[in-house]
Amino acid sequence: MSLKFPPNDDLRRLLRFEPDSGAIWLGDRRMVLMHTAALAALRQDLINSVGPEHARRLLTRMGYASGLSDAEYAKKTRPGEAMQDSFMVGPQLHMLEGAARVTPVKLSFDIQAGQFYADFRWDHSWEAHAHRQKFGLVDEPSCWTLLGYASGYTSAFMGRLILFKETLCAACGADHCQIIGRPIEEWPDGEAHRVYFTDDSLMEKMEALQLQVEALKSTLEPASQGGQLIGKSTAFRKAYTLMQKVAQTQATVLLTGETGVGKERFARALHELSNRADEPFVAVNCAALPAELIEAELFGVEKGAYTGAHAARAGRFERADGGTLLLDEVGEMPLAAQAKLLRVLQEGEIERVGGETTRKVNVRLVAATNVDLEQAVLAGRFRRDLMYRLNVYPICIPPLRERKTDIEPLAQGMLARFCALHGKRVLGFEERALQALQQHDWPGNVRELENLVERGVILAPQAGMVEVEHLFPNQPDAVQTSLDAHGHLARLPSVQDDDLSARILDSGSSLEEIEGRVLDHAVARARGNLSEAARLLGLTRPQLAYRQKQRQSSAAPAPAADRKSEPGAL
Ligand SMILES: [Zn+2]
Repeated sequence: MSLKFPPNDDLRRLLRFEPDSGAIWLGDRRMVLMHTAALAALRQDLINSVGPEHARRLLTRMGYASGLSDAEYAKKTRPGEAMQDSFMVGPQLHMLEGAARVTPVKLSFDIQAGQFYADFRWDHSWEAHAHRQKFGLVDEPSCWTLLGYASGYTSAFMGRLILFKETLCAACGADHCQIIGRPIEEWPDGEAHRVYFTDDSLMEKMEALQLQVEALKSTLEPASQGGQLIGKSTAFRKAYTLMQKVAQTQATVLLTGETGVGKERFARALHELSNRADEPFVAVNCAALPAELIEAELFGVEKGAYTGAHAARAGRFERADGGTLLLDEVGEMPLAAQAKLLRVLQEGEIERVGGETTRKVNVRLVAATNVDLEQAVLAGRFRRDLMYRLNVYPICIPPLRERKTDIEPLAQGMLARFCALHGKRVLGFEERALQALQQHDWPGNVRELENLVERGVILAPQAGMVEVEHLFPNQPDAVQTSLDAHGHLARLPSVQDDDLSARILDSGSSLEEIEGRVLDHAVARARGNLSEAARLLGLTRPQLAYRQKQRQSSAAPAPAADRKSEPGAL
């Protein structure tokens, strides 16, 4: 067969420079431009400090890792093409990355049969040049990183260990290097070379298992041992310390913070740290219960109290007796229930709906809210006296965007948990994916992160990595520049048309109409639960309410005739 490289446009497109974010990418992998002088100095230091044999091993393994990494692109970039073109991705990337000029001399392989033979010529190997500069002419071939790359790439491509050796090397005085690659078993001294490619797959597997065990343990461990709460950022530690200090007391705690910051987890951790840890922890979401049922849910109901109350039932207060009761989204509680709650807090006893007698309950109350209770009081939606009762010891849990250093450890913890949950082995996040997580605004906070990571685990290939597309499937590519055919930096044409925007423009609807429809859709999807709808929209509940009110007031007086005059109105 003819041994010509196919055009490398597809590979050049993989290389992207993002000077604004301080990153260079090859596909999903972050790269770095390094001075060969720096690499040469590191190489010299390694040889002088650990000796040539160890240095060779380390550098070969470094090259091997690069080769393994680039082998991904053989599958991704030229999937349906001739096997030979697909293989050439490696040598062509090696050139693009500046290792050497590669000229294929002979290449024959059969993946199914496990046959491989290659003879390539390398000109201008940076490594041979560096070695000669530091050590002068030597007897042994010295392109260790480059050979590691060839072996790593080819081994991944073939699915078996292929060993490349130099038959000529510029470091020994030849005018170019020459390499031969064959399956390691076919080299007479192949076994002696295995040491350079120590098989880490078993270690990887053990690591993956270890992660799963950790994840399972973290779901069993009480939150007090850090099983549920992850965070080292200053903002998070501050909230955590406040919680630790109050845990052992009986004080009512008010947890505030945006939707999804993990208020229930905090409440559980508080319970686990308190001396009530062996008693029940009961949570109730005040926004999720219909107003007419909330009193029965909280305080219980006597038989026949209302139509449908066929049997007496204990409320959440009674079920939490001796333990902790979390009233989540307490700001959404109807005023009638607020009055009753206040009395329970003052007197320490409850009365079931339709009941005549009171019962003593011993409950430590934790309330949580994402609305500003002070505002709710001013708006007449919340009782001031109840607010004072609840607001004894407020703890504000910071939003995720204010604790960016916690994002990666949180995401890693979730990854392990969802891998265990879905029985999948996913090796980790691509660097680009991690960077995207860092840059996201997180309106939905930890819960949103959890949703994204779960989706990522489901979409990532088995034994593969979570890529940015698995986390944010509909994000337009943030690519800025690439290399043109002459190897110069050039702006990439926009790959993705924003067809959603285009369709909206084509529909002729006004922005207000679109907003109105999106709001209605969110409310419908949340089945009328306004807090949930607000969360879907990335708004707070008051913000949503405000927008709805604005729409109603602007819609009411607008006569139909006016609207017809708008161009393109539906
Ligand atoms: Zn060489």
